[in-house]
Amino acid sequence: MAAQLLDGRAVSSAMLAELRAEVVDFGRVHGRRPVLATVLVGEDPASHTYVRMKVNRCGRVGIQSRRFDLDVGIDTKELCRVIGDLSADPEVDGILLQHPVPGHIDERAAFEAIDPDKDVDGVTRTSFAAMAFTEEGFASATPGGILALLDAYDVPLAGRHAVVIGRSAILGKPMGMLLLGRDATVTYCHSRTTNLREHIERADIVVAAVGVPGLVKGEWVKPGAVVVDAGYADNRGDVDFDTAVERASFITPVPGGVGPMTIATLLAQTVRGAQRRAAASVAPLQPLSSR
Ligand code: NAP
Repeated sequence: MAAQLLDGRAVSSAMLAELRAEVVDFGRVHGRRPVLATVLVGEDPASHTYVRMKVNRCGRVGIQSRRFDLDVGIDTKELCRVIGDLSADPEVDGILLQHPVPGHIDERAAFEAIDPDKDVDGVTRTSFAAMAFTEEGFASATPGGILALLDAYDVPLAGRHAVVIGRSAILGKPMGMLLLGRDATVTYCHSRTTNLREHIERADIVVAAVGVPGLVKGEWVKPGAVVVDAGYADNRGDVDFDTAVERASFITPVPGGVGPMTIATLLAQTVRGAQRRAAASVAPLQPLSSR
């Protein structure tokens, strides 16, 4: 029997509708809209498309976006200055630096220029630590979106064996940490893993986050496993969907699975960031005796 689709479009649409109502409430109380600053370096067409989609979705829920498209020739120091200014700007609630930046830029340094309180895409070391220690904080948007998608379908995680393929700082590693935080037993695979097939054959949950189209073959998937495909290269996912759909219990389509959830999570965290900052800026009441 074919797997049930984990429909990221439908789940994210419901999330965006709820966010829209929260943004209206926020405006009523604080007299302004949450603000997301997007920073894009260079002319990569895919990155331009992703930023355009994020800005469009902001408009749909009422978040105000401020777009900073920077010349490909910018250096790390200048990029960090731009991001530092946005971090210090009291009118900005969240900052997104579109990944990847051109190779001559130190992306980690640029990420770390984001004030952790505005790190609504979950890319700083502070956010990483919060995910690792299961503390309050911002999740990396894609892993956070994947978790929200699994939760929307009540996929049980505790005690299940999850295999995460990929170990990047913004996707694979935090994905494993979030699953571990939900009591899954986690195995990481990467380019030096031997016998990838054997690991996948034992997995109750497979999260592919690689960027190699069709890497995971359907016949490797354990019958009844849950398959999440975060990969996106050449307009294709990392999983051979047509064969995997026949064995899995749940599976994400590509596109329409993980991508929309990433954007919805970014926006949800922008609204949460704005709410937190607004709450923090309200001066605490003084005790009567000190007035
Ligand atoms: P990345 O930084 O290039 O990391 C890729 C990971 O895959 C690395 O850990 C690499 O291992 C591993 N890998 C490469 N070849 C492998 C192989 N043959 N077998 C097993 N593992 C292999 O990429 P990323 O930023 O994490 O993104 C991964 C994919 O997700 C890309 O297709 C990207 O477009 C997509 N993505 C989608 C969204 C979304 O919203 N849908 C968001 C972000 C990214 P090593 O560490 O050993 O090199």
